[in-house]
Amino acid sequence: MTEARANDRSDFEGLPDDGTAESFPRRKTRVEVDVIGQTPRGPWSDVPDSLWNDWRWQQRNRLRTAEDLAKVITLTDGERRAIEATAGAFRMALTPYYATLMDPQDPDCPVRAQAIPREVELDKVPGDLADPLGEERFMPVPGITHRYPDRVLFYVTHNCPVYCRHCTRKRKVSDPTSAANHDQLEIGLDYIRKHEEVRDVLVSGGDPLTLSDDRLCELLGALREIPHVEVIRLCTRNPVTLPQRFTPELIDRLANFHPLFVHTHFNSPRECTPEAARCLRALADRGLNVANQMVLLRGVNDDARLIRETNVWLLRQRCRPYYLFQADLAEGISHFRVPVQQGLDILRALRGPVSGMAVPTYVIDAPGGGGKIPLVPDYIESRDEEKVVFTNWKGDRYEYPSK
Ligand code: SF4
Repeated sequence: MTEARANDRSDFEGLPDDGTAESFPRRKTRVEVDVIGQTPRGPWSDVPDSLWNDWRWQQRNRLRTAEDLAKVITLTDGERRAIEATAGAFRMALTPYYATLMDPQDPDCPVRAQAIPREVELDKVPGDLADPLGEERFMPVPGITHRYPDRVLFYVTHNCPVYCRHCTRKRKVSDPTSAANHDQLEIGLDYIRKHEEVRDVLVSGGDPLTLSDDRLCELLGALREIPHVEVIRLCTRNPVTLPQRFTPELIDRLANFHPLFVHTHFNSPRECTPEAARCLRALADRGLNVANQMVLLRGVNDDARLIRETNVWLLRQRCRPYYLFQADLAEGISHFRVPVQQGLDILRALRGPVSGMAVPTYVIDAPGGGGKIPLVPDYIESRDEEKVVFTNWKGDRYEYPSK
């Protein structure tokens, strides 16, 4: 992808160089280059743009079997076994677009790690929880999690374009028996109407963008009519897995429900494509504030350099790095977990070399439903009645009076 863009003549503006300084084409800025071109389409190179950019085509042509995948990547024996073995527990599906982000030859590719099952998913380790955040425990009516006083999570679908192997809601996402039917959605809306303390609703799932435009807008419209609902948040990984889903028509319609925020989930520089950049900018242009909720994952982004690269790219697309989540205790994701101390070291390495805008809040969602707890590297060396001694991002020591 990067190579394709680097060789693109559109990196330059103006006429070919005729030897004079004045006529040498202006090199485009990084911000301009981010949105140029397209990700190479691999085995779909013959698919016309009109189909490739049609989210329905992408959904219809999702890869669901080892045979489908074998046309795109060289599967390992372990991956083949895992696809079969995990099908009953948490099925596999990925859009052709997301599949093209994978390295066909590298089983350790960070996109592949997020999308292709591994046999370790079947291992349960001590401490694993089916419902790691206690969402069902705080569920007054089906589909509504009401944990904090002023906000609720509204579960509106069990479907996603790609089933992320590290998903915290594996217990119900992708499972048709957990579908949020019309009656359940009405019950959820009714609960929100009756609870005037709810001023903020997170529309989640699954991925709410798997609903049709009409169904999604109907739901957002019903929420917007509730006088005490101030903020609506749309939690979607579509900018990463299916950016084509955000058509200009849909974005126009979404802009009717402001203040509407979008929470998305980029984890790796490999996901930072021209298609994703165009999607994020189109959302920002219509006033949809997009924030990123990254999950710290072993083998995907457990390196400050990768997180920094992703986050500065996100800022260029006007998407704010919001949270860096410690992976929770969901069953079957122990292979993704990074020790907390390593997470703290990563966060410390982030602060300083880049602006604080690119440094997310590192949080752990307390097991069982305790809510988010920020994890902050310890910059304080000592403190007494007289002074606090701390170190800055370079490790230099400073003192400040205690009172
Ligand atoms: S998009 Fe979100 S809800 Fe869907 S599988 Fe991925 S992490 Fe889970």
